[in-house]
Amino acid sequence: MPEEAQSIKRPQRWDVPFWNESAEFEIAPMTEEEVDRLLQIPLFRQMDPTRFPKNTSLRDILLNDGRVRKFRKGDIIVRQGDYGNSAFIVLSGTARVVLDKLSDRVTGRQEPVRKSAFSAFAQWWQNPKLPEVRHLGVKSPEREAGHTDIIARTDPAVFVQDMNVIIKDKRTVDLPAGELFGEIAALSRTARTTTVIAGAESEMLEIRWQGLREIRLHAPEFKDYVDRLYRDHSLKNHLRETPMFSHLNDETLARVAAVTEFLTFGKFEWYATFTKIRETTAPDRIQKEPVVAQEGHYPNGVYLIRSGFARLSETFNNGERTVSYLGRGQIFGFEEVALNWMKKSDLPFQRTLRAVGYVDVLFVPTPVIEQHVLPGMPESELPKPQPVSIDKRSQRRSHDKIPPEMMEFIVERRFINGTATMIIDMDRCTRCDDCVRACAATHNNNPRFLRHGPIEDHFMIANACMHCQDPVCMIGCPTGAIHRDSTHGRVVINDLTCIGCATCANSCPYDNIQMVTARSTDGRPYYDQATNQPIQKAAKCDLCSTQITGPACANACPHDALVRMDMRNVDKLADWLKQR
Ligand code: SF4
Ligand code: SF4
Repeated sequence: MPEEAQSIKRPQRWDVPFWNESAEFEIAPMTEEEVDRLLQIPLFRQMDPTRFPKNTSLRDILLNDGRVRKFRKGDIIVRQGDYGNSAFIVLSGTARVVLDKLSDRVTGRQEPVRKSAFSAFAQWWQNPKLPEVRHLGVKSPEREAGHTDIIARTDPAVFVQDMNVIIKDKRTVDLPAGELFGEIAALSRTARTTTVIAGAESEMLEIRWQGLREIRLHAPEFKDYVDRLYRDHSLKNHLRETPMFSHLNDETLARVAAVTEFLTFGKFEWYATFTKIRETTAPDRIQKEPVVAQEGHYPNGVYLIRSGFARLSETFNNGERTVSYLGRGQIFGFEEVALNWMKKSDLPFQRTLRAVGYVDVLFVPTPVIEQHVLPGMPESELPKPQPVSIDKRSQRRSHDKIPPEMMEFIVERRFINGTATMIIDMDRCTRCDDCVRACAATHNNNPRFLRHGPIEDHFMIANACMHCQDPVCMIGCPTGAIHRDSTHGRVVINDLTCIGCATCANSCPYDNIQMVTARSTDGRPYYDQATNQPIQKAAKCDLCSTQITGPACANACPHDALVRMDMRNVDKLADWLKQR
C-alpha cells in the first residue's frame, strides 16, 4: 500500500442497525434490555440459541435487524400492493388485517398524474436548459452568498381516520399479541397482499428481511411456523389460481395443499454475487446453479415456481444448452407425470431445472397428482399421448424460434427479469439518438437511460430500467422512495422522499440507476445542511409514467429499431427477434 494511501474500515452489515436506519420516523434505540424482553415472547423463547452461529446470534439479529415501533389506532402499518422488506410481530394492541382492497384515497397512495396531450406537447418548450433541476425546499439565509439550497424531509406516514366507518363493509381479521404478519412479502420480494392497520394503540416488533432469513435458516420451528402461516392463509388461493388445479373442489384442494412442500434453491441475495458470476464461463455458471430437478431422473412430482427464476436446459453434445426459462406461476414436470399416468410408462424428466440466482418452488409429489389432480382433469388440459420425443414440445416452440446463443445471453445475464426490457435492433438503429432526446424531453431535459449496453448478435439490451419482476433495487431503500406504482407495477422513484443513499443503484444488477446531483434553477447544486455534501437523487427510466402515450423512446424511434419487451412472454420475444 503506498505511503500516502488512506485506509478505511470496510462497511459491515450491522454498521447501521434497523432502528437507526429510517429517515421517515424517530425510533427508540434497541437496547439489551429490550432484547431481553423480546426473547421472552413465545415465538423466540422456543428457539434454541445455540443453533445460531456466533457472529449472527439470535440476540444480535434482534438487536440489529429488529426495531420496536409504536402505532396509533388507525395507523397503516403495511399497505396492499406495496413492496416490503420487513415483517411484524404484534407485541401489544392489535393488527387489523383488511382482506378486501381499500381505495387508494384511504391508503394515501398517489397515482402518477398523467399529463394532458397539450401539456406533454408544451413541455418541449418549458424544460429547463440545465440538467437535474429541482425545486427543493427553501433558500437558506445562511448560504445566500454561497451555493446551496436546503431540503426539508417529508413524513410519509398514513393514518386512517374513522377507521371503523371505512372498514365496516370490509372483511377483516384481528391479530393479537404474538402474531406475525408481512413475512411472505418480505421473504419473497412480492407485493403485500393485504393492508394492515393498527386496531388500537399498538407496539410492533419489525424485523428486516435479512434477519428474518437468518432466523428462518437457524430456527427450524420458525421456518415451520412461517410455512404453516402460508399454508393456512395463502397456499390454497395460490393453487386455485394455477390452471392445473382449477378443476379441484375445496376439499380436494385442501388435501393437495396439505402435502405440498416448500422448497428454496439458490441465494435470495443473488444480486450480491451476480457481477462476480458474470465473469465466469457459461458452462461453469450452469454447473454452479443449484439443480431443482435433473434430466433423466424419475419424475417424482410437479414443481410450481412461486418466485424467482429457473433455467430449463437439456444435454447437448457433451454439455448442456439452455432451452428456456421459467418464472412465477410456471410449472415443471407435469407432462412427464401426466404421460406416465396416461400411458403407464416410465418417462424420466426430459430436462434439467436449475435455479437462476434464486427460486422458490411448491412441490407436489407424483402420487398426489395421480390420485387427486389427473383423474378429473379436462381432456383439453392433458398432454397429447405421443412417442417419447413429445416431451420437449412445450418449451420447444420458443426454443426453436429463439437462437440458442440469444437464449443463453438473456438467461445468463438475467434479462429474463425484465417486464419492459429495452431491446434495440442495431441493424436498424442509425444512432440518431431520437430516442434519447425524446426521453430527455419528457423528463425535464434529463435522459433516463443510456443507449449503451451488452450486445448479442445485432441486439443491444440498453441500460434502461427493465421494471423487473424481482426488483432487487427496492430492497433496503430506507424511505421506500423506490417502489412499484400501484396500478401498473412500474418501478418508480419518489424524488421527494429519495434521500440519495444510493442503496438502489448499488443493488440494481443491471446498472440501470444513476445517482445525479440535484440543482436549483440557476444550476447550483443543493447541499445537505448537516453534512455539507451535495444532495444526490436516484434517477432511472419510469416508463414515462406521466405520458398518456407510454414510453417516449419506443414512440420516437423513426426506424422501428427499439422495443420495450416483457421477457415473460417468450413467444412474443421470439416473434419480434424473428421479424428482424
Ligand atoms: S432499477 Fe434495476 S433491478 Fe430495479 S427494476 Fe430497474 S432494472 Fe430491475
Ligand atoms: S437512493 Fe435509492 S435506495 Fe436511497 S432513498 Fe433514494 S430511491 Fe431509496
